[in-house]
Amino acid sequence: MRRSPVTVLSPDVLAAQGAEAGATYARLAAKGLKLDMTRGKPSPEQLDLAEGMLALPGNRDFVTEAGEDARNYGGLQGLAEARRLFGAMLGVPAEAVVVNENSSLAVMHDCIVWALLKGVPGGAPWVRQEIAFLCPVPGYDRHFGLCEGFGIRLIPVPMDEDGPVVTEAERLAADPAVKGMWCVPSYSNPSGVTYSDATVQRLAGLKTAAPDFRLFWDNAYGVHHLTENRPAPHDILGLTAAAGHEDRAFIFASTSKITLAGAGLAFFAGSKANVAWYLEQAGRRTIGPDKLNQLRHTRFLRDLDGIHRHMTGHRRLIAPKFEAVLEALDVRLGGLNLARWTKPEGGYFITVEMIQGSAKRVVELARGLGIALTPAGATSPYGRDPTDSVLRLAPTYPSVDDVRTAAEGIALCIHLAALEAGGL
Ligand code: PLP
Repeated sequence: MRRSPVTVLSPDVLAAQGAEAGATYARLAAKGLKLDMTRGKPSPEQLDLAEGMLALPGNRDFVTEAGEDARNYGGLQGLAEARRLFGAMLGVPAEAVVVNENSSLAVMHDCIVWALLKGVPGGAPWVRQEIAFLCPVPGYDRHFGLCEGFGIRLIPVPMDEDGPVVTEAERLAADPAVKGMWCVPSYSNPSGVTYSDATVQRLAGLKTAAPDFRLFWDNAYGVHHLTENRPAPHDILGLTAAAGHEDRAFIFASTSKITLAGAGLAFFAGSKANVAWYLEQAGRRTIGPDKLNQLRHTRFLRDLDGIHRHMTGHRRLIAPKFEAVLEALDVRLGGLNLARWTKPEGGYFITVEMIQGSAKRVVELARGLGIALTPAGATSPYGRDPTDSVLRLAPTYPSVDDVRTAAEGIALCIHLAALEAGGL
């Protein structure tokens, strides 16, 4: 958000606002708060929703649908019943799914390492040349960190309400160094944007100089709705195939924010060639995944309706927290022209955009109140937001009351930072 034309407020009004905000800040600071709005973690109550799963598959219930013993080695691609269930969730056929251990970030990491060392189907090892990834901004800091750790250059691409700006992505992908693009197509981290059908279609057909270009399609929030609306996942495999780029999408997801963040299941999905490639590499890395956890998940969630029912439980717990943040922002900042914020319909975050040059100061002021925020800049490649104007709020973990208190504090800090900058 650029600094809007200075709203004409009389010096008296400004002084009164400054006095009120300063006094409220001092009162809050004296409370010795200790609140954390940094990371998108499920709360203990959300984890409790999956408590019943821990008793599964239960005593001597270890025989899979195919009649195999889930306790033993093998089953590299995952159990048929787990691939069917999570294929339905991802909108892809069971044979397109590989079920892994608990972390999708680890699956993305493996794909990047294998691409660097071995190349993806249809290409040479990436490590032989300079590599760059397109990074929609604001985006997920761990995606950026993963690339940065391997010396992959990060190129920002702006986002709008339809997803990444495709004309810009296409212009940048004319560089053969650009081998990949991060995409969080449903309820993006952190903007909450769900890519429009037109944007997804254009990404599927994007003209790229690199023939082995991949969309890193991270569907981390595909079923994480905050309203009763439940948009189906985009048919990215169908669309890329129809555009003549059958192998373009590497799909990732997990149950970290469905069942248990530290003990869920993570998925890779893709075309026939991509799945064969993935299994070839994975087969050297492991003799097989934890299939008891796969049985536990399939016994507990059962089918797509079961997943949706379970996610309704999450929604009931976290939607009030999002509402508390939005209300607190609105109460203090609603009438003032100095910040705007997303009203997400799903996912885990609210993004606040404020007067340029003030986000770091807001984080500092919030720290003074005992409220931990994600560092300003974290949602940009290399942690550098040239506008210093974007903050990501993660309201799921603290209690509703704590979230409300934290959001009131944050709104106050945004107001104070703007007053300090003389931006009212
Ligand atoms: N992808 C996105 C977009 C995320 O926001 C997160 C966690 O916040 C992850 C991946 C991490 O997923 P996992 O727990 O499966 O490693």
